[in-house]
Amino acid sequence: MKKNKCVFLDRDGVLIEDVGYLKNPEDIIIMPNSVEALQTLKARGFLLIIVTNQAGVAKGFFNMDELTAVNNRLLKIYEDNGIIIDDLYFCPHHESGTVEPYNIKCSCRKPAAGMVLKGIEKFSIDPLKSFMAGDKDSDIMLAKNSGLKSFYIKNAMYKHDESIIPDFYVKDLKEAADIIIKSRILN
Ligand SMILES: [Mg+2]
Ligand SMILES: [Zn+2]
Repeated sequence: MKKNKCVFLDRDGVLIEDVGYLKNPEDIIIMPNSVEALQTLKARGFLLIIVTNQAGVAKGFFNMDELTAVNNRLLKIYEDNGIIIDDLYFCPHHESGTVEPYNIKCSCRKPAAGMVLKGIEKFSIDPLKSFMAGDKDSDIMLAKNSGLKSFYIKNAMYKHDESIIPDFYVKDLKEAADIIIKSRILN
């Protein structure tokens, strides 16, 4: 059976502005280029799966209901623009957090591959035809840990470790999408 191709997407700093521990759905600032990028990728048959670290749950900055409300509003905004996100996985854990049962060392916090492996299994995804787009070194490492090609989206607020080298440096998700559709991964 033919396997699927997918673009795994970081949330904060890629799809929406990284405002730090986003708690209120009303505070979502969508990256306008992300709408066009995701429409392009969907039209070319890529699955879209969000993989996001949300240690704010373990650290007590917001609870699971608040996180779910933010995620649902984000999904709704894309849906209103004709984009169905195929799945969304989040890691609420952090080993130095204070909120049980989330204050653990887990296998889903990026750069660990747990969330991507879950998507690969569920949707029968071929990593060789798939990509990860993120704005942190942990996103690049996640791609390396799970066999995906990586796009590093520059984040002016973040100190990138130059020794962790992505497959592509891009300014935003739109530029990543343009490279992907030229990459001859047609099926
Ligand atoms: Mg990010
Ligand atoms: Zn986790």
